[in-house]
Amino acid sequence: MAGTDRARKHSSKRDAILRVIRSTVSHPGAQWVYERLKPVIPALSLGTVYRNIKVFQEEKQVISVGVVNGEERFDGQVAPHPHFVCSRCGKIADLPCPGDQAIKGMAAAVPAAQPDFTIDYRKTVFYGLCGECRNAAPPVATAPSGAGDR
Ligand SMILES: [Zn+2]
Ligand SMILES: [Zn+2]
Repeated sequence: MAGTDRARKHSSKRDAILRVIRSTVSHPGAQWVYERLKPVIPALSLGTVYRNIKVFQEEKQVISVGVVNGEERFDGQVAPHPHFVCSRCGKIADLPCPGDQAIKGMAAAVPAAQPDFTIDYRKTVFYGLCGECRNAAPPVATAPSGAGDR
């Protein structure tokens, strides 16, 4: 083990970043990954996290779920699966995919309709409110105007 320390040094950050992304179902952004690892790897920079995530995406080890509340969020589970996104707090959850065969059928029909197109990936996202947000503050639209202001 000790003899490989030098060689491992370069990949240790990379390994740690991938491990953190795969260790959670919270679909984190780069900032979250950075905050998780910074205490363990003091030399880590946010730029390094971004760069490595970009490489993981190219290697198809990590997928982007999309930009939620201004931050791009990532998933270490790369097999296609639908997501739920809370429009208020940005929580992202995995959903089961009982219609997977139907979606594959849709993809298979694409070459017949559009022979020039190729498909790289697909995304299914449902937007709404999570339980916490639903039970929290009432929707802005129903609040009497000015009543809540000081
Ligand atoms: Zn929420
Ligand atoms: Zn997911």
